[in-house]
Amino acid sequence: MQKKTVKDLKGNQLVDKRVLVRVDFNVPLNNKFEITNDTRIKAALPTINYLISHQAKVILMSHLGRPKGKVVEKLRLDPVARRLSELLKQDVKKVNDCIGEEVEKAVLNMQKGEVILLENLRFYPEEEKNKPEFAKALANLADIFVNDAFGTAHRAHASTVGVAEILPSYAGFLMAREIEVLSNLIENPERPFVVLLGGAKVSGKIEVVQNLLSIADRILIAGGMSYTCLAALGYDVTNLLLEEYDLEIVKKMLKKAEEQGNKIILPVDLVITKELSECAESKVVKNEDIPKDVKGADIGDKSIAIFEKEIKKAKTIFWNGPVGVFEIEKYAKGTNRIAKILADMEGKAVTIIGGGDSIAAIENAGLTEKMTYISTGGGASLEFLGGKKLPGIEVLPEK
Ligand code: AMP
Repeated sequence: MQKKTVKDLKGNQLVDKRVLVRVDFNVPLNNKFEITNDTRIKAALPTINYLISHQAKVILMSHLGRPKGKVVEKLRLDPVARRLSELLKQDVKKVNDCIGEEVEKAVLNMQKGEVILLENLRFYPEEEKNKPEFAKALANLADIFVNDAFGTAHRAHASTVGVAEILPSYAGFLMAREIEVLSNLIENPERPFVVLLGGAKVSGKIEVVQNLLSIADRILIAGGMSYTCLAALGYDVTNLLLEEYDLEIVKKMLKKAEEQGNKIILPVDLVITKELSECAESKVVKNEDIPKDVKGADIGDKSIAIFEKEIKKAKTIFWNGPVGVFEIEKYAKGTNRIAKILADMEGKAVTIIGGGDSIAAIENAGLTEKMTYISTGGGASLEFLGGKKLPGIEVLPEK
């Protein structure tokens, strides 16, 4: 899949042009609504700098958090504009809306090489509903559209799909790199290719595993999905389940994996507790000995050892989702161990981290530099691996 990128805009095709760029500035915020991590802003810099240096007028748009179609003062993008100004070493003008008169005026007054940031797109319900009128209002601001927001490529929103259907469209550098790395992973991974999936969600991930059964050599499963698998195998884990799921589908998946030489590997022991808190008591039990009234908090030492053995044999590893409730220090042990094991594979295997909480775990452990590639999209990277067509990518023209 070779999408047209901003690099395909040659010579003076960008000079004085209004370029609307969908970026993913959905940065984590603390309870004072301050930015706690600017990785996503930094990831968009190559595209923004390229457009500036080619004298375009750069109009950036993003969502932040979940304002659910209403203006939420604390989810305005002003702190992002301030951080971006520091990183670019040039002033980024922030406007208080993403469509309408104020925005049109601001764009009209732009000079070559200037950057403005529109307001949070999700203040409008029309964004997530991909309403044509809203997409048109956004597209009217510009001559060219660039999508650099891989993290939202799995959503057909006005700013990802609607606008791309109207304007000449290109992938940004980050988007192009994400597509390249993940395509390589599913088409041509160096083997053995080991996938580790954790986290709380079950539904979307079962489909990913089904697709990976024909791609990966081993699939290690922890967290919410592992409890669903244990239930399908007949273990009494009702209290542990994080999501309801059709166990017949899971049974079929496990059967297929068994026929393929036990491709799926589940934890053999778990850390359990009556209450997911730092001070509540916890203990390690084998799958056979899980009491009825407890919650799952982490994987046990035996499981870590089994996962470690598989990871150490790999030449390519993809990891998405913590193996325990890592936000609570006491239950972060398994996740931190996994991060360290992957870091130790530096130079021996390709390690790819798929977004979200696994990035946070690796950053907390100070191991970011040890990984081969960190994808900015959690859900998007999983859907890519699940073999789904991502609407935000599909809509972009091929070379
Ligand atoms: P996801 O969005 O599916 O990647 O889930 C991430 C969340 O999964 C994190 O907030 C973890 O605390 C949570 N998680 C991981 N393992 C478990 C577990 N065994 N029980 C409950 N939550 C878990």
